[in-house]
Amino acid sequence: TRHDLSKYKKVSIQKAFLEGGNPNLWDFYWMYQLQQEAPRPKRIICPREVENRPKYYGREFHGIISREQADEILAGVEGAYILRESQRQPGCYTLALRFGNQTLNYRLFYDGKHFVGEKRFESIHDLVTDGLITLYIETKASEYISKMTTNPIYEHIGYATLLREKVSRRLSRTKNESRKASVTSEENTPVEKITSLVRRAALTQNDNHFNYEKAHNFKVHTFRGPHWCEYCANFMWGLIAQGVRCSDCGLNVHKQCSKYVPNDCQPDLKRIKRVYCCDLTTLVKAHNTQRPMVVDSCIREIEARGLKSEGLYRVSGFTEHIEDVKMAFDRDGDKADISASIYPDINIITGALKLYFRDLPIPVITYDTYSKFIDAAKISNPDERLEAIHEVLMLLPAAHYETLRYLMIHLKKVTLHEKENFMNAENLGIVFGPTLMRPPEDSTLATLNDMRYQKLIVQILIENEDVLF
Ligand SMILES: [Zn+2]
Ligand SMILES: [Zn+2]
Repeated sequence: TRHDLSKYKKVSIQKAFLEGGNPNLWDFYWMYQLQQEAPRPKRIICPREVENRPKYYGREFHGIISREQADEILAGVEGAYILRESQRQPGCYTLALRFGNQTLNYRLFYDGKHFVGEKRFESIHDLVTDGLITLYIETKASEYISKMTTNPIYEHIGYATLLREKVSRRLSRTKNESRKASVTSEENTPVEKITSLVRRAALTQNDNHFNYEKAHNFKVHTFRGPHWCEYCANFMWGLIAQGVRCSDCGLNVHKQCSKYVPNDCQPDLKRIKRVYCCDLTTLVKAHNTQRPMVVDSCIREIEARGLKSEGLYRVSGFTEHIEDVKMAFDRDGDKADISASIYPDINIITGALKLYFRDLPIPVITYDTYSKFIDAAKISNPDERLEAIHEVLMLLPAAHYETLRYLMIHLKKVTLHEKENFMNAENLGIVFGPTLMRPPEDSTLATLNDMRYQKLIVQILIENEDVLF
């Protein structure tokens, strides 16, 4: 029976997997064993010389032959395969493969790699191996697979309790120490080994973290050695591209399971290499802060020594010095030293803050909401316009909203010193409009037309910062 573990004792499973503690261990072994049992590919070589054989195919290519002839060559052997050229459409190639006592024919493609579906393979042998595993598992476990996602382990993990304290300690340390220091000290501790699943379980218990939603950043991944899905706890089968991995937190799941995973990605600092050019929500979640720490640091510095500086935010600082601040943040995180002793010119700091906003892959005012903001700005009745802006603000992701709110409170303070710095809400709108919002499509014409509305949005937000509360 499928729950007889003794049968599979010899199966060598990666150490990390066993340490991870899979709650569906029995089903995992069962599916793993199915993969081991899948028919192996048997290449049937063409005995004669074949003309016009594409150079990327080997002697398993039999030239132009009919389905019936292919069927005969395969002789009912499970896993046997040949390649043939279509009689009706020369130049089209077919993989004929025996599985489940029938000959299956797949249209075969090549673009530097071989494929019949989504997965791309280096060799025909790999493609057939993976195909046979998939066919075998989907045949033997079809009912099980269809139910796999209905009882996920994802929401109720009880085995993380022991690690919880360690992780909370790690998180609070991350908050108070430099990014560099926390990464180094982590490297030799057992905490390093915990899975993203355990990390998340710990986080849901942690009061320190800000409850921003963040979608996972799943990319197709080829796993070395047996891996289990951290959503359904089942084996991830196949030769390559067995599942997807989140590049921000390292969560590993089946592709079909990825659709069900909630937007609760908790990025791992080790995977987040930079501060600039990093997605805003990803950055604040990785650093466990309310807002990007660049924003807090720069604003703190500007309010401490720059509010009366003439042309604040309008005057630009030396580009090299601004790049230097950017590098310092990327390298040292919130420990970056931007004090007057190193950067006496406050315009370097304002420049670094503006650059941070410009470098965001998704602007503070997101691409999704851009046109709604522009439409709201076009309303001529001021009360209706404010109401419309208020409604669109509610559509911003929470971390973006919070960052915008904080910046507007700061810019309001800047305008209170207009007598000294000559900056009012309109001037600041000209500077920050295009910095905080960019049209989703890069069209020079649209940008030119929208500029006055971009300015107006920022101006209105500064003048009515209470709309952001
Ligand atoms: Zn993630
Ligand atoms: Zn799964």
